[in-house]
Amino acid sequence: MSAVARPVVTDDDSRLGRALGRRARRDAAVRTAASASLWLGLLLVTYWWTVDGGILDLGAWTSALVSTGRITGLVASVLLLAQVVLMARVPALESAYGQDRLARIHRVVGFTSFNLMLAHIVLITWGYAGGGLPQTPSTLWNLLTRYPGLLLSAGGTVALVLVVATSIKVARRRLRYESWHLLHLYAYLGAGLALPHQLWTGAQLLSSPGRTAFWWTAWAVAAGAVVVWRLGLPAARNLRHQIRVERVVRESDDVVSVHLSGRRLDRLRVEAGQFLTIRFLGRPGWTRANPYSLSAAPDGRSLRISVQSVGDGSVAAAALRPGTPALVEGPFGRLGARSRTRSRVALIGAGVGITPLRALAEGLDVAHGDCVVLHRYSTTPLFGDELEHLARRRGLAVLDLPGPRRYDDSWLPLGVDPRVDDLSALTYWIPDIAQRDVFVCGPEPWTDLVRSTLRAAGLPDDRLHLETFSW
Ligand SMILES: Cc1cc2nc3c(=O)[nH]c(=O)nc-3n(C[C@H](O)[C@H](O)[C@H](O)COP(=O)(O)OP(=O)(O)OC[C@H]3O[C@@H](n4cnc5c(N)ncnc54)[C@H](O)[C@@H]3O)c2cc1C
Repeated sequence: MSAVARPVVTDDDSRLGRALGRRARRDAAVRTAASASLWLGLLLVTYWWTVDGGILDLGAWTSALVSTGRITGLVASVLLLAQVVLMARVPALESAYGQDRLARIHRVVGFTSFNLMLAHIVLITWGYAGGGLPQTPSTLWNLLTRYPGLLLSAGGTVALVLVVATSIKVARRRLRYESWHLLHLYAYLGAGLALPHQLWTGAQLLSSPGRTAFWWTAWAVAAGAVVVWRLGLPAARNLRHQIRVERVVRESDDVVSVHLSGRRLDRLRVEAGQFLTIRFLGRPGWTRANPYSLSAAPDGRSLRISVQSVGDGSVAAAALRPGTPALVEGPFGRLGARSRTRSRVALIGAGVGITPLRALAEGLDVAHGDCVVLHRYSTTPLFGDELEHLARRRGLAVLDLPGPRRYDDSWLPLGVDPRVDDLSALTYWIPDIAQRDVFVCGPEPWTDLVRSTLRAAGLPDDRLHLETFSW
């Protein structure tokens, strides 16, 4: 084993570090503002429920059922709208959280909202049935048939049940991503159908101007976010850039690079390390969008992605013809300059996960000697020649780690001395690893092991930037 980076004890993180961290600090402020807004919304509806006698009503059985039903419904509605916003591809949220983290938050918020919504239906109906369980089904029927809007919200609930049932891990694993994604769009229908019920029967919505303003603003923000950022922005970007396939180049047995060109690509604010969600038109399955990271730093005139064959969509990439139009969404992702706070960085990638790191190796602003690349692969390195060239040109230290994994709990290959554990090997190669920003990309089980070693080496979580190609 030989060390690839000598410990450089410098004030790396003084002036340059502060400049580098500017966007990271702005993103942290956006995250604080976003969670504060959500908590404020939840506090407001709880406050209104309290002044309406929500707590006093807890004193008797029947009124307690109705009162708890009300608060669960109100909180469920706020969370339902919050999760629509979370997945509306709002640029400030995408940059601040990253799509993978947003999806994780969306999952927690979504399940909580759904459970509270079910509790709301059961508790309110039970309360209106005078607290007697046997009368509850007939009361539910009466409510549904008599109150305008309630039948619509029952339809909305069915749509949400479909979405939640297919999002439970066991069910999700059995579905193709595209089928799951299509079903997931029913959540918009579910959220939309709940509005008339809130309008017509939700006492809170209309009982004071403050409350009316709050609920209409919340609904308008959620609907506006979807219309502007989920639909409008991608449509405008595609009209403006008209991205097309320029050529397809084979990189290895199972990976091709697709070179893309378009109009005014200098205006597409995409950075090395980010990914685009792409639909190639004019072929079967064109409606399905797949996310691909840039494999080269964007130069303002062209883009390059590199695609490993795993399923229908990716296999078909090899047969793309020059001129094929592509619809893109994005750019997305925080793997890159945006989240960087240190001048020294390490890039650790495995398999096709080297793709965004190859772009970072080219695009990150680093001084000679400040970037180390650990490249893990089984037999043939993807972009081996390009990384070698970049190493020479940009002063990167590249350490190839070829071969099968040495044992189950290690992310390193057989060639590494078995007496040396992963942590010792890593800190030998990069002694100052805990002082760097570290960008990691690879299969999830592998990145989990890398993450534990980095934590054991003392790297704080906010300087570990991770991408796995999974959903
Ligand atoms: C942020 C991100 C960046 C990625 N970058 C690259 C890259 O640079 N190069 C590369 O080869 N692969 C990349 N992938 C993986 C790539 O998106 C999938 O391999 C591809 O979508 C598979 O589609 P398919 O139709 O060939 O196969 P399918 O049979 O449809 O899917 C195979 C597997 O790919 C995953 N997948 C499919 N569609 C999506 C989707 N829209 N979002 C998330 N996961 C999906 C699923 O886990 C599925 O199990 C990336 C994935 C993500 C999430």
